[in-house]
Amino acid sequence: MESKKSTALFNEAKKFIPGGVNSPVRAFKAVGGNPLFIRRADGPYLIDEDGNSYIELINSWGPMILGHNHPKIREAVIKAMENGTSFGAPTEREVQIAELITQMVPCVDKIRMVNSGTEATMSAIRVARGYTGRDKFIKFEGNYHGHGDSFLIAAGSGAMTMGNPDSPGVTKGTAKDTLLAPYNDLEAVYRLVEANRDQVAAIILEPVAGNMGCVLPDTGFLEGLRKICDEEGIVLIFDEVMTGFRLSKGGAQERFGVKPDMCTLGKIIGGGMPVGAYGGKREIMEFVSPEGPVYQAGTLSGNPIAMAAGLTMLEHLNSHPEVYTELDTIGTTLVTGIQATLRSLGLPYTTNHVGSMYTLFFTKQNVVDFESAKTCDTTLFGRYFQGMLQKGVYLAPSQFESLFLSTALTSEHVDQILTANETVLKGLV
Ligand SMILES: *Cc1c(COP(=O)(O)O)cnc(C)c1O
Repeated sequence: MESKKSTALFNEAKKFIPGGVNSPVRAFKAVGGNPLFIRRADGPYLIDEDGNSYIELINSWGPMILGHNHPKIREAVIKAMENGTSFGAPTEREVQIAELITQMVPCVDKIRMVNSGTEATMSAIRVARGYTGRDKFIKFEGNYHGHGDSFLIAAGSGAMTMGNPDSPGVTKGTAKDTLLAPYNDLEAVYRLVEANRDQVAAIILEPVAGNMGCVLPDTGFLEGLRKICDEEGIVLIFDEVMTGFRLSKGGAQERFGVKPDMCTLGKIIGGGMPVGAYGGKREIMEFVSPEGPVYQAGTLSGNPIAMAAGLTMLEHLNSHPEVYTELDTIGTTLVTGIQATLRSLGLPYTTNHVGSMYTLFFTKQNVVDFESAKTCDTTLFGRYFQGMLQKGVYLAPSQFESLFLSTALTSEHVDQILTANETVLKGLV
């Protein structure tokens, strides 16, 4: 496939933008080659500047659960634009989306809108600290919670792909309040809590991890964390920036039946516009300014255009529960097909899958945490990625990402993906 324009744009971009991209994982560094510059997207397709079209399985890293350029969302945005782009004062839509989220997401009594997932997690931790009067929190190795200083420790995907699990620029003072445990290891959490009694404000995790590839919580893991938090007065925070409105309309907390004290949201919540949010129990959220003492603010938070896109997205999901059965079917068909190909070719690789999230890991180990994820053959993944791209299927350009499905995928698309997958895997043997 021709990529002259993308290559020229990337060379220009590198002169003016660090690494030529505005977010590191876009740079194809982990898979070789140059990133494609995208001109437009429609349904399940990305169309690049050279006119190539790809079936894609990232969906803007999660948000586009209905596929790209969905007419309902496009029309809502255009209509909202006619009244102006930002007011810096409250609007009716903010009330509507807040009320709808409290109906959809089990743990949320009150919600605050921000502009990204990063802001949501930073703010949630601050509120948990303010509420408990404690400084430390526990996070899990390989979980990503945005690029806030205190989270950039064993932070998965982007950082992992770039080969620096911890970022320079994060002070030792900040890092010392972040306690690390392996994912799915309740014993390690017990030990940390015991060694830091009455000092742990929060436990934050991805209830299904998507940032070291897709890794599911073991049976009893989420329940065990709920129990520890109840016993120790710790705020349990599910980072549902990825899983929220994706694994069910109430996210992973609804799908797995474990209610955290707070959760963070992003990606799907903005329908493709930059939106994040954090919410939770009434008595915790009442600590947030101006109701309470914990300060958190945003000039463009609750932006009217972003809220129009988000509200339309959430209303659609709330009134179309069949979206989730449809996505589960697409996911199961794809992953079953991939597993059948692996078996027929005698390849020992692992798949993890839940609903519309999955990863094919180039390792024969079960992937249950950061350590097992790191056993993947990333060179082989790079060849697989490039092979799929040549066949017109655009995957996440890193082994350590989950793929995200959308309702725009028909059974013909799924067949096309599976055919490409079989051809490319055959070529790797
Ligand atoms: C993407 C992501 C974030 C960060 O969201 P941004 O909008 O990129 O700042 C936080 N947590 C999880 C689980 C994510 O997947």
